[in-house]
Amino acid sequence: MQYKTRKISRLGALSIVILLLLTACEQTSLSSSYTSNKLIDPSLSIENQSTLPSTSGKVNPRDLVLKNDDSSVLPQKGDNKEIYETGKPKEEPVLTNLIHSKKISTLKPISSVGKGEVAITIDDGPTSHTEELLKVLRTYDAKVTFFFLGQNVLSYPQSVTTAVYDGHEIGYHSNSHPKLTNMDVNSQEKEFDIGLENIEKINHNPITLFRPPYGAYNNDTKVLTEDHKMKMVLWNEDPRDWSSTDPAMITQQVLSQVQQGSIIVLHDRPSTISALPAIIKGIRKKGLKLVTISNNHK
Ligand SMILES: [Zn+2]
Repeated sequence: MQYKTRKISRLGALSIVILLLLTACEQTSLSSSYTSNKLIDPSLSIENQSTLPSTSGKVNPRDLVLKNDDSSVLPQKGDNKEIYETGKPKEEPVLTNLIHSKKISTLKPISSVGKGEVAITIDDGPTSHTEELLKVLRTYDAKVTFFFLGQNVLSYPQSVTTAVYDGHEIGYHSNSHPKLTNMDVNSQEKEFDIGLENIEKINHNPITLFRPPYGAYNNDTKVLTEDHKMKMVLWNEDPRDWSSTDPAMITQQVLSQVQQGSIIVLHDRPSTISALPAIIKGIRKKGLKLVTISNNHK
C-alpha cells in the first residue's frame, strides 16, 4: 500500500515535470519563430504561406513586413528579395524533374510602355492600406495598374470594387504569391485559376494582364498566360520601394530612374503610398504622361 502510494506520487511528480518541460519548449519555439519572422529571416520560404491575415495564429512574414512597414522593424540588408518583386526579370529554364507543358510559348512579356509615357504598377494588394492608396490616386487624378493577389481579394473586396470604379486597371498576380518557376505546370495552373475568379467577379470583365510573383517565369508560365488569354507584364524600372520606409528616399529612387517607356514596379505599402504624391508630380514635371498598361498595349 505504502509502495503504491509512493509510486503514484512519484508518477504525479514526473508528469508535472514533463508538463513543465513541454510548456517551456512550446514557449521557446513560439518566441523563436516570432523573432525569426520579425527579423524577416531570408531563409523563410514564402511560397507555401498564406497572404491572408492568418486565422491559424501563424505569423506570415509578408504581413509583418506590411504592418511593421513604418515601425522600427526595417528590412535587413538583402532580406526582402524573396518577398517583393525586384531586379530585372528574365525567363528561367523549366526544371527538368517537374511535369511541364509540351507546348513552347512564343509569348513576349511586356516590359515597357510608349514614347512619352510612364506606367505605375502596384503589386501585392489589396491590403488594409489600399483605400488610402486609392484616395491619394484620386486626389492626383492618376491611374495605375494594380496586380492583385487572389487571396487578398477575399479579405478586401471593397478595395477592388473601388479600384475598378476609379478607373484603374486590374491585373492578376497569382493567388498566393509563390515562386512559379519552382512549381510543375499543374501547380502553376492552380495559381492561375484559384483567385482569378474572385477578381473577375468584381471586375466584371476578364482580367487580361498577369504579373508573375518576383517576376519569376518559365515556359510553362508563358503557356499558361496564353491559355488564359492574358499578357504577361514585367517591368523595366525597379526603385526597390520595399527597401525604404522613407517616402523622400523612395521618391528620389523612382524619379532618378524614370524615363519615357518606364514601367515602374511599386508595392502596396505605407511608405510607398506616402511617396506617391511627389512621385506623380515629379513624373508629370518631366513632361511624361501616366498611362495604364492596356491603354498602351491594345
Ligand atoms: Zn508580388
